[in-house]
Amino acid sequence: MIDHEKIEQAVRLFLEGIGEDVSREGLRDTPERIARMCGELYGGMDDDAAVHLSKTFSVDSSEMVTERDITFYSTCEHHILPFYGKAHIAYIPDGKVVGLSKLARTVEVYARRLQLQEQLTGQIADALMAYMQPKGALVMIEAEHMCMTMRGIRKPGSKTVTMAKRGVFETDPALEESFFRMLHAEGTER
Ligand code: ZN
Repeated sequence: MIDHEKIEQAVRLFLEGIGEDVSREGLRDTPERIARMCGELYGGMDDDAAVHLSKTFSVDSSEMVTERDITFYSTCEHHILPFYGKAHIAYIPDGKVVGLSKLARTVEVYARRLQLQEQLTGQIADALMAYMQPKGALVMIEAEHMCMTMRGIRKPGSKTVTMAKRGVFETDPALEESFFRMLHAEGTER
């Protein structure tokens, strides 16, 4: 749970630390504002992917389900700066599917906390496997990290791409190929 008191104290100290005057008008409400914002940015810690992914429907088909371009915003745990981009998810159902909005909700659960992109990618894939029991799952994330672009190490716009494969995606390269075909399907904006 978010401790507003602690965050407000910490923000005041931080502002003093960078040489700011915490009593000036523009900063007066900043500690409280940041504490409230933290509830939203890190709210994933109080959410549970199991709740979203356990609402399944029965299906006969075991055709690949793909949801691409799920926009997300997360926070790098090394610098507490944003990283954000798109998540693409594919899974092979084993008798059940979830509503597509639940995949986006699952991304939010893990994105809305301090994260590393590699870990975020793996956690989403593991949650799909654990709570939906598909035959396999693949998660790919493309993101821009402010800790790399703002600080000038890389050019703005450069993307970090990570992928996690579970189940049949680990053993059948043809599935991964068909995922990439769906990802780059024509007539759709990328
Ligand atoms: Zn970072």
